Amino acid sequence: MKAVRIHEFGGPEVLSYEDIEVPEPGPGQARVKLAASGVNFIDVYQRTGQYPGDLPRPLGLEGAGEVDAVGEGVEDLSVGDYVAFASAPGSYAEYVVAPAENLVPFNVTLVEARVAAAVMLQGITAHYLTHSTFPLEEGQTALVHAAAGGVGLLLVQIAKLRGATVIGTAGTEEKAQLAREAGADEVILYTEQDFVEETNRITGGEGVHVVYDSVGKDTFDGGLDVLRQRGYMVLFGASSGPVPPFDPQILNQKGGLFLTRPSIGHYTATREELLWRAESLFSWIGQGNLNVRIGGTYELSDAEQAHRDLEGRKTTGKLLLIP
Ligand code: NDP
Repeated sequence: MKAVRIHEFGGPEVLSYEDIEVPEPGPGQARVKLAASGVNFIDVYQRTGQYPGDLPRPLGLEGAGEVDAVGEGVEDLSVGDYVAFASAPGSYAEYVVAPAENLVPFNVTLVEARVAAAVMLQGITAHYLTHSTFPLEEGQTALVHAAAGGVGLLLVQIAKLRGATVIGTAGTEEKAQLAREAGADEVILYTEQDFVEETNRITGGEGVHVVYDSVGKDTFDGGLDVLRQRGYMVLFGASSGPVPPFDPQILNQKGGLFLTRPSIGHYTATREELLWRAESLFSWIGQGNLNVRIGGTYELSDAEQAHRDLEGRKTTGKLLLIP
């Protein structure tokens, strides 16, 4: 089968499209014939070695497709079921094998396979950020950075479903428009405007209850300045680079703030939690309450271009690879 792997860490050019053996499912595992694989920033961190791992390394974690073989002891899944997942290493491929407990069944007549692939990692992230890390309540205000990105567009919509006021940031006017269409009440063009000044102006100097920051280095310090007293800095990514070492005393000086740096694994720790989040997303999609924007579709052999576009800040919504 065809798959994308790396044999060394580096730029997008190290992504190698090659032939490897179709994997066989072991006990408790299932094999999925992929309809689509999701591209995520974590794949970039794995490619560059920022998140280390053994080489050669198959890339990709997310996708959806049809179960075509099951290993010993798998009772809840059958050949022909459609499943989606956010944590099956090696999903940039025609087939992937994963523990059955990581696979979420979905009804392919209600949710298209590509949409299911597109929503798993970024959608579950948006879900846990708004429901568990800082459970947003009606009347609260959130600042969402990179609001037209993959996580961003979902985060804006889900924050609105919870009744919050949402201020988004975006790098271009086109992206700002997408964030508005997703429901953002205000959007700041942070490449042209000072988002600290703008957020303080919009909130009448009160500040926001929570900052959801996936951008990291370029936005972290400013985010601390727009939080109201005892506000939450939820730092969940580093698209502009990692935040340098930080003195906790700053949290005191800026108003008894909270800081957390969560990952999806912390919030899908049990099968129940994974199913709760994924099924909530599928049900919102089925009811027309959540729009999943697929901003780019690439052949599996074009994974290199997909990475260039994602890192080059050129994309909106979700990028998919089609095997
Ligand atoms: P996005 O679609 O959000 O793409 C990244 C966006 O970040 C860009 O489009 C750009 O939007 C913005 N950005 C700002 N500065 C830069 C820069 N210097 N270089 C590149 N992009 C920049 O990606 P994802 O939705 O896949 O992921 C967003 C972030 O969330 C990533 O950092 C990722 O690691 C993190 N993440 C964390 C998870 C967790 O559980 N902790 C799970 C999923 C994602 P603009 O032009 O509008 O500024």
